[in-house]
Amino acid sequence: MPRPNPEVCPESSAELVAWMTANHSGPKRSVRALGGGSSPVWNSNPAQTACLLGTSRLNRVVEYPARDMTITVEAGISMDQLQQVLAAEGQRLPLDVPHSDQATLGGVLATNTSGCRRYGLGTIRDSLIGVSACDAQGRLFKSGGRVVKNVAGYDLCKMLIGSEGSLAIITQATLKVLPRPHSAGVVWVPLAALGDSEAVLASLVTTQTRPVAVEVWNRTAVDECLPEVTNVVTGPEGFVCIAFEGGDREVRWQTTKLSEELRQLRIDCESRLRSEATETLWADLNSFQNHRLPPQFKLSVRPSRIVEVLVKGTRLGFSLATHAGSGIGWGKAAELVSPSDFADRLSEFRQFVENLQGHLRWLGGSAVEGNPPAGTPLPAGTELLLHKLKRQLDPDGILLPGCPAISSRTP
Ligand SMILES: Cc1cc2nc3c(=O)[nH]c(=O)nc-3n(C[C@H](O)[C@H](O)[C@H](O)COP(=O)(O)OP(=O)(O)OC[C@H]3O[C@@H](n4cnc5c(N)ncnc54)[C@H](O)[C@@H]3O)c2cc1C
Repeated sequence: MPRPNPEVCPESSAELVAWMTANHSGPKRSVRALGGGSSPVWNSNPAQTACLLGTSRLNRVVEYPARDMTITVEAGISMDQLQQVLAAEGQRLPLDVPHSDQATLGGVLATNTSGCRRYGLGTIRDSLIGVSACDAQGRLFKSGGRVVKNVAGYDLCKMLIGSEGSLAIITQATLKVLPRPHSAGVVWVPLAALGDSEAVLASLVTTQTRPVAVEVWNRTAVDECLPEVTNVVTGPEGFVCIAFEGGDREVRWQTTKLSEELRQLRIDCESRLRSEATETLWADLNSFQNHRLPPQFKLSVRPSRIVEVLVKGTRLGFSLATHAGSGIGWGKAAELVSPSDFADRLSEFRQFVENLQGHLRWLGGSAVEGNPPAGTPLPAGTELLLHKLKRQLDPDGILLPGCPAISSRTP
């Protein structure tokens, strides 16, 4: 993925703070933080006139007391580099990140990135216990600490997650980590009709098993991302995939149990164990987000409404891959359509999602000419609160000019 070039690339937090302070007391240039540049927004919105401040040289491991299962690192470390450090101690950060060779921890925090295992493992919010960041005036602030027990003060960690660099530039983070699991297993349900997935998802409410991922993909998404993957079991309209991870016995028991439960409901399924190459399984299930043609939009609805969204979106000609258990979906045009036709279909789909009290956000892409389609607006109260927060931390509007994070961010 092409990466924009930063204009400033500080080597330490002190250098970053000095530059931000001088900018604030001097030219007050607009600033956008640039991590690995892997987000699709860079393609559709190439930062206009803002100064790009790169974090790639802030990539050190500050402290790793592996027995405490926490790690403190600088925000520009790439996710692959971070996972390699943890793997040497048999540990991991439980998170799926696309383009993880390029994406940085700061970018992941700023966009609240997650993937298929969000259902069972949560998001970066659940792993973050401390953060340091520099605001637009060059003030370095810290929140949380290096231990899990800290309850005092405002929870600025949560405030920065998903802020997209609009409130402060994240310089360092402390995370709690988990042991690496040995095995993974999947139960596939091929779909003759997308609506059949409703019964499968309903059965998970009473299952004795604990899946980490519950995916429903329509057929065009499967054909685009997984055409040659032999382990995928799909039907004419797509698949449901329920995945587990853990110890060998634990995973074997869960896949067998879930298969029995589904067969009792007369739902055909096929289970597969993966005690090797588990990473390949997760890469396959995250391949829609990782694809060379990245998704154009992201949506969220209550998990109970995800099947309706899949049926409607498929009818409108979108490829859709959903983390159905979490009510999150990714989509793009499945076929070549004119920009105006695409805009009409997207607007109809957005309206449909909003009628279900859901949210759709345009991420980028070339299918729409001119202005990118608007995302779902935030409720008025939330919008007001975010504006107040922005005024406190960045009264001159230096960070993230235009501030899409404030006007249309995904919950
Ligand atoms: C709204 C949004 C939601 C997304 N959600 C997901 C998701 O759920 N799952 C998924 O797979 N991918 C998601 N993405 C794509 C996501 O951007 C990438 O997956 C990746 O995490 C970005 O890492 P990066 O280092 O390449 O960030 P970049 O592409 O460099 O930057 C992404 C954003 O983060 C800001 N940023 C980067 N570093 C810092 C920092 N140190 N401090 C403050 N701000 C910083 C940038 O200004 C920019 O706004 C999302 C993208 C956007 C825009």
